[in-house]
Amino acid sequence: MIIVLKNGTTQEEINKISGWLSRYNVEVCPIVGAETTILGVVGDTSSIDRNSAYLSEYVDKIMKVQEPYKRANRKMHPEDTLVNVGGIKIGGKKIVVIAGPCSVEGEEQIVDIARHIKSSGAAVIRGGAWKPRTSPYSFQGLKAEGLELLNIAKAETGLPIVTEITNPMHVEKFIGKVDCFQVGARNMQNYELLIELGKARIPVLLKRGFSNTLEEFLMSAEYILSGGNENVILCERGIRTNETFTRNTLDISAIPALKSLSHLPVIIDPSHASGMAWMVESLSMAAIAAGADGLMIEVHNDPKNALSDGAQSLTYEMFDSTMKKLKALAAVVDREL
Ligand code: PEP
Ligand code: MN
Repeated sequence: MIIVLKNGTTQEEINKISGWLSRYNVEVCPIVGAETTILGVVGDTSSIDRNSAYLSEYVDKIMKVQEPYKRANRKMHPEDTLVNVGGIKIGGKKIVVIAGPCSVEGEEQIVDIARHIKSSGAAVIRGGAWKPRTSPYSFQGLKAEGLELLNIAKAETGLPIVTEITNPMHVEKFIGKVDCFQVGARNMQNYELLIELGKARIPVLLKRGFSNTLEEFLMSAEYILSGGNENVILCERGIRTNETFTRNTLDISAIPALKSLSHLPVIIDPSHASGMAWMVESLSMAAIAAGADGLMIEVHNDPKNALSDGAQSLTYEMFDSTMKKLKALAAVVDREL
């Protein structure tokens, strides 16, 4: 339920209404905007007496939130949420590009990549340390050493770090070493992991599962938000369809859909969506044209010899030329990059 208060309702009155509502065993989330204040009421609101004189005195309107996601719902939070990843704000006018290798492979590799992507305009570095691979025989990541190497790259370049967490028991290990957790497509519905990340105060970049609906995606975000962590970034990375030419099918419509359903920032991963480096630029352009708040792009110093996802990784030259085109396009859609 959403209660829109009349202009000029004082904080004291807001406190009184919140106190009155909490007798109904619901949680009240006040959202104070520049002009209006709304109260998001989460829980079983069926017994709240909408005609109570208490409410009517201050209330402009009351709306029911039909969708099962409440905190992720734009109705609860009409303004766009800005997520701060180590000083870089995602969800505002500036489009943020996160780039880096699929996997951290060594110090020289990650530091060199960090320097190059920074000089082309990337604002955040990515790189997997724990790699959930389809085959148990494939490279599984450098694990804890990978986290240390990412921190060396950060010390050299100042770029904040996003890296994937696969295990709820690893949260403590990651805190202080990452600026943003990544939850991979395979773990979008790992609820134990989402609950632990909800307790943390570090942003979470949540990827959509291969076969999940937007509602399921937003319900996974809801797990994190309901734990008290309000810093969630939604990432569309391609879904399974009957098409086999591309690794996945980029669901461009997810951008306007998610932006209208939710206040959370939406970014696109064109690398896992296509699986092919030569397509990454086109899909990135399409994402920006459709209103994405950012991109996550795989870039490698030597794609042919990458330990994972080489075929979809851009060379430095490709990344640099893509970034130039994206900058020009961003201006056309009244954004910056
Ligand atoms: C990745 O970002 O390297 C990754 C494994 O992505 P996804 O979870 O989208 O497959
Ligand atoms: Mn990858």
